[in-house]
Amino acid sequence: MFIIDYHVHTRLCNHAAGSMNAYARRAVELGLSGIVFLDHLTLRPDDRRSSMAEEEVGLYYGAVRRLARLYRGRLEILSGLEIDHNPEWNPRARELAERFAFDVVTASVHFSGDMSFVSRKSAGRNRDVPDDAFADAYFAALDSMLDDPFFDVVGHVDVLKKFGRKISPELAGRFRKLFSRMAALNLVMEMNTSGFDHPAAEPYPGETLLRLAAEAGLPVCLGSDAHAPEQVGRHFGDATRLLARCGHTRLTQLVGRKARFISLDAA
Ligand SMILES: [Zn+2]
Ligand SMILES: [Zn+2]
Repeated sequence: MFIIDYHVHTRLCNHAAGSMNAYARRAVELGLSGIVFLDHLTLRPDDRRSSMAEEEVGLYYGAVRRLARLYRGRLEILSGLEIDHNPEWNPRARELAERFAFDVVTASVHFSGDMSFVSRKSAGRNRDVPDDAFADAYFAALDSMLDDPFFDVVGHVDVLKKFGRKISPELAGRFRKLFSRMAALNLVMEMNTSGFDHPAAEPYPGETLLRLAAEAGLPVCLGSDAHAPEQVGRHFGDATRLLARCGHTRLTQLVGRKARFISLDAA
C-alpha cells in the first residue's frame, strides 16, 4: 500500500499510549508506506493533559528524525504538528512550527473558549447546548482559523458531530462554503478515520461532506488519529473505498510542507 497515515500521536501529549517505535512497527506490519507523527501542540496555559509542552517541541522533532533514520528503506517517517486553533496563541504556534523542518502542519479546532468539542467529559456538559448554538461556536472557531492559514491541513473538519450530533442539510451548506474557502487557500482536508470508533460512527468527514469536498476540488489526506499503536491505519480500507465512491480520485501526501498526489487506484 502506498498509503501514509498522516495523524499519529505520541506519549508526549500525555494522553496517548505506546512507544513511537511501537507505532512505526504497527505501520510496517500493516504494509503502510509511511506515518506522520502529528502530535498535539496546544498552547493553553495550565493544560498539560492535551499536549506536549512548548519546550518539548525540539525534543519531539529530534525523536521523530532519529526514528526516521532507523526505519529508512522500510517506512517513511515524517514529522508534523497538530496545532490546536486559538487565535491568541497563533503567532507562537506559527513560530514553533517554522523553527523546525516539519513535513506537515495541521490545524484543528478542539475548543471554543472553555468549551471542548472533543473531550468525553465535555460531551455531558455540552448536552444542553442547542445544535444551532453548538454549530455557531464551532464555525466561529473554524472561520477564525482560516483567517490566518499558516498551516497545510485542516484536521477532523466536522468533529462537532463526535458525540452524535447530526450534519443537517443546513450545516452541510455551511461546510460547502467553508470547503470553497479552503480550496481557494490551497489547504488539504484530512479524512480522519477515528470517527468510525466514536458515537459519530463515520469518519470526519463522512459521506455527505466528502461529496461536497470532491465538488470543491479539495485534496484529501488520510489520518487515523492514533493514540495507541494498534490504532495506526485504522479503517483505511473502508476509508479509501468511501473516498472513491464520493468522487475522489487521489490522495495527498505532504513532505517538507509540499503536496504530492497519488492516484487512489495505486493506494
Ligand atoms: Zn489527542
Ligand atoms: Zn485533534
